[in-house]
Amino acid sequence: MTASTPTQLSQPASQHKDIIIIGASHAGIACAERLRKLGHEGSITVIDRLKGLPLERPPLSKAFLKSAESDETAFALRSESWFADNQITLMAGVTVTQIAPQDHQLTLDNGDTLGWHQLVLATGAYPRPLPISGGDNKNIMMLRHPVDARALRSKLNAAKHVIIIGGGYIGLEVAASARTLGKEVSVIEAADRLLARVASAEASAYFQALHQANGVAIHTQAQVSGIAETETKMQVLIGDNKANNATMDADLIVAGIGVIPDMDLAAKAGLSTGNGVLTDAFYRSSAADIYAIGDVALPAHGYTNGTIRLESVHHAQMSADIAAQSMMGQAADAHETPWFWSEQYDVRLQSAGLVPADHDTVRREGRRQGQVSFWSFSANGKLAAVEALNDSQAYMVGRHLLSSPDPENRITKALIADPATELKTLMKRP
Ligand SMILES: Cc1cc2nc3c(=O)[nH]c(=O)nc-3n(C[C@H](O)[C@H](O)[C@H](O)COP(=O)(O)OP(=O)(O)OC[C@H]3O[C@@H](n4cnc5c(N)ncnc54)[C@H](O)[C@@H]3O)c2cc1C
Repeated sequence: MTASTPTQLSQPASQHKDIIIIGASHAGIACAERLRKLGHEGSITVIDRLKGLPLERPPLSKAFLKSAESDETAFALRSESWFADNQITLMAGVTVTQIAPQDHQLTLDNGDTLGWHQLVLATGAYPRPLPISGGDNKNIMMLRHPVDARALRSKLNAAKHVIIIGGGYIGLEVAASARTLGKEVSVIEAADRLLARVASAEASAYFQALHQANGVAIHTQAQVSGIAETETKMQVLIGDNKANNATMDADLIVAGIGVIPDMDLAAKAGLSTGNGVLTDAFYRSSAADIYAIGDVALPAHGYTNGTIRLESVHHAQMSADIAAQSMMGQAADAHETPWFWSEQYDVRLQSAGLVPADHDTVRREGRRQGQVSFWSFSANGKLAAVEALNDSQAYMVGRHLLSSPDPENRITKALIADPATELKTLMKRP
């Protein structure tokens, strides 16, 4: 699959409108920034229910957990002066409780109403609660925002044995951070492999081996059926409550079983929603002058054609850029091939494309020790995704190939598997 074609909009330019963005995280801030760069001269207000300067999210499961408490400015998405310099008003610690698409108004939790010409929903997502007995115990930690990471960091410092429920990227990154801090760590995953929803089977096996080599106990095909708490410990019940049950004790439980798009405002206002706020390729929602970007958006005609909601910094920024161009009545960029990264121990994963469910994957060793990449092909033989471990050349070549049309099926499994193939030569047209 290659990037989708750019398209020109016929909307008139709107440089003096008042724009409100709900959500001051990766998508919302990127949209505000792009609007100013494109020459928007009207007001831009970004509202977020979280207090303080917005922080980056990816470090929250990585460097932030291992950092000192006073270190937070290093993780700021933008400095305080950036907001002033760009004349962007940040309303932090304020929740939007309702939007009225017809009236072009919204209501805040203090009862005030604000008017807008264009509104951007960048409300992101929130962690999926554990649907089991005891799953609502307030001592089960979830990780999404800085406030969660601060609480987790402080509990982590005191804990000896940490159980992580969910072997997705966030769970595994927390496992790596906790292990690096010297904690005993167990990961419990219901599926038959780690990262089952997002990675190739080969990448899953790689990460399982990496964690085991670092002393993490991995339990796959293990269904957590309950959580109990005594005065001294937390207990995780694994099994069906009938036979073959097991109990594991921990001082700290972290749940990372995916997220739910935060589309409450959109749904209450009658916007079209599915597993996200439905938009067109320009991130325009079903209501006039309302856009949805980042993790909350489900673009019907983008790279994934409304089938998958992308949860990544890259999608937050790309959707913000396209929405800003669209709001300004300018030609919009093409939807790019999705990309993502993760860091665990001394391994950096960089991936491009989406691994299909029925993937056929080729392993390729890199030029240096420790470099490896997994190239996944779809049932029709087309390259669909590349997962590169400490191998930025493989990632760069793979991303380039995924973004370029390949009508003659030049990029084959045999070509990639052949150690004699020089990856960088593939970037040249034949
Ligand atoms: C711990 C962690 C690690 C990650 N690591 C990576 C990584 O390594 N690589 C990668 O590509 N991606 C990573 N991600 C994913 C990436 O951070 C998200 O895709 C990205 O944050 C999405 O940005 P967003 O702006 O759409 O939403 P969010 O970051 O969820 O922000 C939404 C904001 O909207 C606010 N909001 C919601 N509703 C309201 C309301 N009614 N009123 C006011 N404010 C509201 C929220 O308070 C929040 O600040 C990670 C995410 C987490 C949580």
